[in-house]
Amino acid sequence: MKTEDFPKHIQPHLVPEPSGHLIYRCLGCKSEYGIEKLLYTCSQCGQVLLLHDPEFDRLKKIPGKTWQQIFDYRKMLNIPSLKGIYLFHEFIGPVIPLESVIYLGEGHTPVVESNARLQEMAGCKFYFKNDGQNPSASFKDRGMASALSYIQYLIQQGHVSDVLAICASTGDTSAAAALYASYLQGNVKSAVLLPHGKVTPQQLSQPLGSGASVFEIPGVFDDCMKIVEALSENYNVALLNSKNAWRILGQESYSYEIAQAFEYDMTDKVVVVPIGNAGNITAVINGFLKFFETGIIDTLPKIIGVQSEHANPVYKYYLEPDAEKRHFEPVTVRPSVAQAAMIGNPVSMPRVIHLVEEYNKKAGAQHVFVAEVTEQNIMDCQLTANRNGHVACTHGGECLAGLIQARQKGLVGNHETAILDSTAHALKFSGFQGMYFENNFPEAYEVIPDPGLINTTALILPADLEHVPEPGKPLHGESLSFFIHRISEEIAKLLDLQKV
Ligand SMILES: *Cc1c(COP(=O)(O)O)cnc(C)c1O
Ligand SMILES: [Zn+2]
Repeated sequence: MKTEDFPKHIQPHLVPEPSGHLIYRCLGCKSEYGIEKLLYTCSQCGQVLLLHDPEFDRLKKIPGKTWQQIFDYRKMLNIPSLKGIYLFHEFIGPVIPLESVIYLGEGHTPVVESNARLQEMAGCKFYFKNDGQNPSASFKDRGMASALSYIQYLIQQGHVSDVLAICASTGDTSAAAALYASYLQGNVKSAVLLPHGKVTPQQLSQPLGSGASVFEIPGVFDDCMKIVEALSENYNVALLNSKNAWRILGQESYSYEIAQAFEYDMTDKVVVVPIGNAGNITAVINGFLKFFETGIIDTLPKIIGVQSEHANPVYKYYLEPDAEKRHFEPVTVRPSVAQAAMIGNPVSMPRVIHLVEEYNKKAGAQHVFVAEVTEQNIMDCQLTANRNGHVACTHGGECLAGLIQARQKGLVGNHETAILDSTAHALKFSGFQGMYFENNFPEAYEVIPDPGLINTTALILPADLEHVPEPGKPLHGESLSFFIHRISEEIAKLLDLQKV
């Protein structure tokens, strides 16, 4: 549809111009910094930063109802830069001109209702939001679209040139970073640091395929993160981990899309997300807060963060009910099938502490909860979901396990509707499915397959077959007929098929 075909009161807002103002703000000492330079931590106190729009209140001048229409109508436009996370431009990056936006197909991922069987198992209605259907097959593309659009903006403004983008990763951050950086090839190069043997072959193939420099480091993610932090403090590199506040900003689109998918009615909604480095839950909380403050939604949904008991520092922190007595302790992680969340010292913890308090206050009651699940729960739930039409990754399984537990504990009632984040595509973690089906999980995972969920291939090779086809050597005549007859007979027997 063309601009002039839209309602008159929407037309001026349809295609956004750069507006507002963004600054980095320290969560600790409230120091503020301009965005002409890439910054990750406060030079005064060392705390992480968030991007803040000091002119945010201008957005409140437009009624919430009008915003809803702006976003809904904007979806009909055929402008690539508005097809992804920048559909919500005024909230995602109001200072970024559309010419700087990189769109590789991210965002607006499907929200898929689960079938009756699964809903009965969970004890309430629920959906998976398939963030594995992003271009690099995880939600990390949302944050990278934001971070790399910003870098492209800095390049176009002449603030930076020849950028080396660098990140530590449990697999998906590096896949997304390498993909988006490769689009800016010529101006941006990327390097990724991965814990040796702790990312799946699929995840490893992604940055290699995008042409990044890929370094494998002994240890776990937390070790890689320390090295990347040292590199970003001592060398001229652009850090793309979620310490980078632009990542968080882009990931807020997840909340906006959920609001839009449910007609902006967040009554009795529960948003369930896995927690690793805690960038995602930070973004999800912040996103809902912004839509709430501008009247685009009038209710804050419940948010449930889920951790594996093998990587549970955030869960442990919130075990203490008295906020005054809480004390954050990093944990030593153990092997986890929710491998992208296998993080013992989440970089965004200070952001989470700050935002959870604000969220609960604005909601008027505790609305953020953290659940802990076992590795066994995660695998069983992932496989069960996928046997019922989903493409959930292990973290999606973790969300389902968290929802079931939240229902059992009464944190979620049967009248509520949950939206579970399948943060990546099932295919990225098919190795864990393979270990389950072959019953060869290393002991440290503590996963024992449920025979009812195991599925393996069957080789059909009857002993009385003298000739079988091979590549370049097809069968003919009698031997072909016998081959077809015997193989189909065997399959019919195994499937218990009746003759017509
Ligand atoms: C990064 C990642 C997570 C964890 O998200 P955080 O922002 O680090 O908490 C969960 N699942 C997948 C698939 C991821 O790639
Ligand atoms: Zn500070």
